[in-house]
Amino acid sequence: MPDAKLHNAQMLAAVFHGAERITIERAPIPEVARGEVLLRIVRTALCGSDFKLWHKGAEFTAGHEIFGVVEMPDHPMHGRRCVVYIPTHCGQCSACRAGATQSCLEVSSLIGWNRPGGYAEFVPVPENCLLPVPDDIEDSLAPLLLDTIGTSAHAVRFVRPLVPPQSGAPVLVTGAGPVGLGVVLALRSMGYADINVSDPNAERIAIARAFGAKAHPTGDTSRRFKLVVECSGAHAARNLGIEVVLPHGALVLVGENAAPWMIEEGRVFRRKDFYMIRTFYFPVGDFEENVELLRRHKDEYRRLVDLEFDLASLPENFARFASGKLIKPVLAFE
Ligand SMILES: [Zn+2]
Ligand SMILES: [Zn+2]
Repeated sequence: MPDAKLHNAQMLAAVFHGAERITIERAPIPEVARGEVLLRIVRTALCGSDFKLWHKGAEFTAGHEIFGVVEMPDHPMHGRRCVVYIPTHCGQCSACRAGATQSCLEVSSLIGWNRPGGYAEFVPVPENCLLPVPDDIEDSLAPLLLDTIGTSAHAVRFVRPLVPPQSGAPVLVTGAGPVGLGVVLALRSMGYADINVSDPNAERIAIARAFGAKAHPTGDTSRRFKLVVECSGAHAARNLGIEVVLPHGALVLVGENAAPWMIEEGRVFRRKDFYMIRTFYFPVGDFEENVELLRRHKDEYRRLVDLEFDLASLPENFARFASGKLIKPVLAFE
């Protein structure tokens, strides 16, 4: 589609009204600012973090696990298959120069949150948020390179120097959603052997076991772990992490929760040396390694994509996803 046709043209986009209501509506194709390109969306994966927008409504088009093709005939990236890196970043500040692009000190917009996202046919993307996807990665798996692989692998890489795999240390992953299951695969590929997973959902535990982890009963405090990777965002799981992390071990908080979290500064918290770490998303520089991770475990990641559907059926499929029946449903465009 040439540029001129897109100008003033319309597209279909999902509108999150709040109170669990989504409608599909015509909307103008978003303006593309200087330094940005227009991406024709091919796939957008649904994400549990969108539940808050589903409940409260979204100011901008939601959706942030985006894969598409650049649609800018005069641009050198035209026609390239790319996934979209969510955090906008300046590339110049001390955080960006140190490689921590997800923690840029100067700009902090998130695509799909503070600017238009991927539950629509087109999205404007800053050039430095385009991550080209090699041809051997199929469309349906490409969005997994973001949250499912990027976020989880970064959490493991970040904590690895503190609790190296060579130590044979027992690891607990709490929450076996896409990120928790991604953490299991990242741990395995980095050489961790004793991986345990807890989640109240038996189907998710079955997948974790198929990925090489052992089941650990939810809420069980009878065993201690050198590394705890908390992926559920549940306060109870965070508190349990504080309790079961071994001295000199590390608790990594990957899961998110909008409600305030109170830590009781009792004996368990006070009388132990341990690391409590938060990680967010991943640095742009990790992308090549993340593509490798996807290649190595393609069949396993493929298992997470349990449904593909079109934009018209987003409202019903988002509700199914919210009820916990699906792991990583993917919205597919023609
Ligand atoms: Zn997400
Ligand atoms: Zn920066």
